[in-house]
Amino acid sequence: MQTNISRTILVTEDNPTNLKLVRDILESQGYKILEAMSGADAIKSVKENKEKISLILMDLQLPDINGLDVIKTLKSDTTTKKIPIIVVSAYAMEKDIENALKAGCDDYITKPINLVSFIARVNSFFDAVRN
Ligand code: MN
Repeated sequence: MQTNISRTILVTEDNPTNLKLVRDILESQGYKILEAMSGADAIKSVKENKEKISLILMDLQLPDINGLDVIKTLKSDTTTKKIPIIVVSAYAMEKDIENALKAGCDDYITKPINLVSFIARVNSFFDAVRN
């Protein structure tokens, strides 16, 4: 867990309750958190903090831009495309997951999130990236 201290995760989520839940979970694991509550905020934050963001968690239903378009924007920019993106969405149909993967996301977690498996997925993602 101590290795997480240097890792910053950008959480994109427009629902304050969900945002707080995810933030609390990840901070308990030692991660530093940046928050974005809209697609435009997410893109702005990534551009400003791209050197330190290790992972982006991306809601799809956002008040301004569809999360898929945020993913496409970030993945088509050579300066941000290497930052991994995990979608965290209530959309759970196979087609939704397929579309998100096509847009360029690296993994997909469905809401409502399960505390234990959510932590395991995020942590194991870093294990996978490191190896
Ligand atoms: Mn949402």
